[in-house]
Amino acid sequence: MTKTPNIERLSVRTVRVPLPQAHQTAGGTVTESPLILTDIHCDDGSVGHSIVFAYNAFALKPIADLLRNLDSLLVDAPASPLEIERRLNARFRLLGTQGLVGIALSAIDMALWDALARRRQTSLVALLGGVPRPIPAYGAVGYDGEKASAMAAEKWAERKFRGVKLKIGYPTVEEDVAVIRAVRAATGNGLAIMVDYNQCLTPAQAAQRLRALDEEGITWVEEPTLAHDFAGHAHIAREAKTPIQCGENWWGTLDLQHAIDAQASDFMMPDVMKIGGVSGWMRAAAMAQARGIPLSNHLWPEISAQLLCATPTAHWLEYADWWNPIVAEPLTVEDGYARVDGVLGSGVEWNEAAVSRYIA
Ligand SMILES: [Mg+2]
Repeated sequence: MTKTPNIERLSVRTVRVPLPQAHQTAGGTVTESPLILTDIHCDDGSVGHSIVFAYNAFALKPIADLLRNLDSLLVDAPASPLEIERRLNARFRLLGTQGLVGIALSAIDMALWDALARRRQTSLVALLGGVPRPIPAYGAVGYDGEKASAMAAEKWAERKFRGVKLKIGYPTVEEDVAVIRAVRAATGNGLAIMVDYNQCLTPAQAAQRLRALDEEGITWVEEPTLAHDFAGHAHIAREAKTPIQCGENWWGTLDLQHAIDAQASDFMMPDVMKIGGVSGWMRAAAMAQARGIPLSNHLWPEISAQLLCATPTAHWLEYADWWNPIVAEPLTVEDGYARVDGVLGSGVEWNEAAVSRYIA
């Protein structure tokens, strides 16, 4: 039996990757991705990589500093994701493991799982006991009005994506419906349409709006109200026929448990960073399986596609190419399905030339 290697050192870099085009949401405009890139070097020569997303450049250096400060807790400790999670959770019990701390802990967890798979010369999905399988993928359409939304959706359809997700939450529900119908008219009935309010409505507004969307044949309505208003989402879910989708802003599996307890969401889409890395995702997948809840991802296409292959209730892959410039081999989507065959580790490896270009 081989001994678990120890962590030798941590390398943390920050980059600001510009988006090919600004992404409008009901909550504001995204123009770049401030990312923290972590490499964990182990004393057997194996290295694991991970990406975490600061959302806002203001948070970039604090998260990187936090990670660098964890060095003293990590060096010479076993390169085991579950053991490191146990130690770090104990260490942060009083401060809490949400927010920037949670992001830093997930960066470590994802890098350790990646190193573990690479050490065994295999993929993350194989390490988790699964096999690669095709996962249907959808693309994003911004808060861009009828014409531009329809054009963006057509582009995804031409690329054979299986669905599109539209940012809505226009001043009136009539405008929301007009955008959905414009997209449907441009792409036909074969394409699944999801919509995302990015938390912009009150529960009462949402209940009213969603009744108007009920006949539009939408696959799901995402985050109609505040992500942590589980009771509010449960109220909306009872009022609407269209399934509710939430999860990208839940911190850790306890949030997911609270959402399940409240019956807040028909579908769930954890974010691998906020849910607690690969370790957190696998627990979320088990909880979703027990309740028969379809699970999709939020961003992180490379690692999420592999996790979805190991998720019993896997639903949709949210595709995004935002971080493609810095990834050596971005996720492959063929005929609308994400493919992870032949991928090593979590699929995250650096395009070093691009990383140096965007270093912040
Ligand atoms: Mg969303």
